[in-house]
Amino acid sequence: MNRVIKYESLADTNAALFNDYQTAFGSFLNSGWYILGEQVAAFEQEFARYCGTTYCIGVASGLDAIVLSLKALDLPKNAEVIVPSNAYIACVLGVINAGFKPILVEPDIHTYNIDPAKIEAHISNKTKAILAVHLYGKMCDMTNITLIAQKYDLKVVEDCAQAHGAQHRDKKSGNWGNAGAFSFYPTKNLGALGDGGAITTNDGALAEKLFYLRNYGSKIKYENKYIGYNSRLDEVQAAFLRKKLLKLDEINKHKRKLARIYFDKIETGFVKPVEQPENSDVFHIFNIRSSKRNELKKHLLEKGIQTEIHYPVPPHKQIAYRNLFKSPKFPISEEIHATTLSLPIAVFHTEDEINYVADCLNGFN
Ligand SMILES: *Cc1c(COP(=O)(O)O)cnc(C)c1O
Repeated sequence: MNRVIKYESLADTNAALFNDYQTAFGSFLNSGWYILGEQVAAFEQEFARYCGTTYCIGVASGLDAIVLSLKALDLPKNAEVIVPSNAYIACVLGVINAGFKPILVEPDIHTYNIDPAKIEAHISNKTKAILAVHLYGKMCDMTNITLIAQKYDLKVVEDCAQAHGAQHRDKKSGNWGNAGAFSFYPTKNLGALGDGGAITTNDGALAEKLFYLRNYGSKIKYENKYIGYNSRLDEVQAAFLRKKLLKLDEINKHKRKLARIYFDKIETGFVKPVEQPENSDVFHIFNIRSSKRNELKKHLLEKGIQTEIHYPVPPHKQIAYRNLFKSPKFPISEEIHATTLSLPIAVFHTEDEINYVADCLNGFN
């Protein structure tokens, strides 16, 4: 009788909110207003308050949040945007779709986030922005990224898709850069029941422009001020997200508790994430690294434990981007991609299950 520990199960993740979602859907349906209504407006206010920002603009996805943030910043044509070399493909794609050139910079091998000490060497007179991706639920070193941005007059967009509620020093993710791009893809810590995204900012003029851009460049029907997009947060997703936002702190707290078990129990032989006093992480992903990653994955699966790899192939090795990065050498990124393994850490996992995972992991050595 083998135990099965799933990596993710969205039905289990959302089961706790079943009644809340049914109520939200009922009033949404009865409202008869399905695009950009009261639910989107209310969620935008509530999420801005949660992040500590003045504004929030709902959009259709996390990718769109990156594209629209960069578009709204009015960077010059051919501008270069600094992106971490080990991030999710949407980060590189967001820069390209916004019409700019991604410049890959290696991460810090301990935090897996872009290494501020390596950024300056890649700044040219075309560099206009940094996309700071808070990977796995840990915020980037925004203290030093902010200093570099000030020194070279660069804009900063945070990719907060894996870091809802994560904090660096006194501020949450989405409240450090010129804009924060969020995804509400169902597996994220604040996941919807479909696609969704949002941009947070403290810049009133930027927010105003984004409200136009996401809706055909228009705020008053049939009056078009900008060349815009159709990238709206769905009204029904906003209704669901309002319910889930009330639970986000609880979700993050549970994940931190599960992470604590891994930190305390996992023995030497594996590289665990670093813990830093200036960062409060939300563990969208809990990864370890092992030189025998593939055998380890197989060993865990034999014990009924499902794991994932974030990510198996770095952006510079993807077919679609093979001509984009000249003589690409990103050894740190490749080392991470070759050795990383993501352990189960979903909101429905019990402490007992995580203890079992940690025991099976230690049994591999
Ligand atoms: C999920 C994710 C995105 C993209 O979000 P979508 O809503 O799927 O477009 C962007 N960046 C990171 C780091 C992500 O994890």
